[in-house]
Amino acid sequence: MKSFDKTFGVLGGDKRNYYLAKALKDDGYKVRLWGFDKLGTMDCEIASALDSDIIILPVIPFSDDENVVSPYSNSNLNLKEYEDALKDKIIFTGIKDKFLSAFPDMENRVSSYSDREEFAVKNAVPTAEGAIEQALMHSDITINGSKVLVCGYGRIGKVLSEMLRGMGADVTVSARKQSDLAWIKLNGFAGIKTGDFTEINSYNFIFNTIPSLILREDVLRELSKDTLIIDLASLPGGVDFACAEKCGIKAIHALSLPGKIAPKSAGEIIESTILNILKEDDG
Ligand code: NAP
Repeated sequence: MKSFDKTFGVLGGDKRNYYLAKALKDDGYKVRLWGFDKLGTMDCEIASALDSDIIILPVIPFSDDENVVSPYSNSNLNLKEYEDALKDKIIFTGIKDKFLSAFPDMENRVSSYSDREEFAVKNAVPTAEGAIEQALMHSDITINGSKVLVCGYGRIGKVLSEMLRGMGADVTVSARKQSDLAWIKLNGFAGIKTGDFTEINSYNFIFNTIPSLILREDVLRELSKDTLIIDLASLPGGVDFACAEKCGIKAIHALSLPGKIAPKSAGEIIESTILNILKEDDG
């Protein structure tokens, strides 16, 4: 069966899932949405949503009380009560392990869209835009004319450093691999080796994308009190936040930015990733 003939049941989630459902519908797919009654939308009964070929759960599928994460619903949904209805379904979520901890027998039918490279690359755009928004909200100066350090030259580091340059910042990028330092130079940025932070007190903004403790006490003590740190790395992040507070340095751990600043774009990124996976499975 080609994915175009299939019905999608979108269960809960934040506005990303709402826009994902809308994008599927706009692209001509049959969609049954549950978990958005607070938005006054085309919600359907849970049994009807589960009676779909493909079930799409939130990025983090379950909350601590094991219900499907559904902040826009007045009802709760414990999927364990509907385990039989999940048999033979194709299931998508962001954090697959969280799903498997509740349904360990469904390993071969659940896919994670957030494990896909194209998802992470496309998601770097709303993340970088959100990082810049955070920087502007928490500072009194413009990015234009500022001295900025971007730690890490992975997906987000690449997109963010280009955006910051486009806004007129003087951008330095850090990386640990010589090959990345070569690309940084070739792309016209100043480059420094991650950890070699000798002139770190000259930056107005530091954006961290490295998921490892990089901005430790010894580095933080060298910073100017006017430096603003925006840490984008997933928990626990790359900054010693307790030390930053003690040193009087403002450090913001800015997480889940795509869903917060651009839920429509983020939902469309999820949609296109899921369709890519299904098309590949179709052969
Ligand atoms: P990525 O492409 O893997 O880039 C990570 C960068 O960190 C690479 O340059 C990598 O260098 C470097 N790195 C990793 N470990 C290091 C270490 N121990 N020492 C020095 N450098 C190290 O990842 P990404 O897609 O840019 O994402 C970056 C982080 O942001 C992740 O934690 C991701 O989960 C998170 N994220 C946050 C948001 C948000 O809203 N805040 C949204 C999406 C993702 P190598 O190539 O040498 O390993």
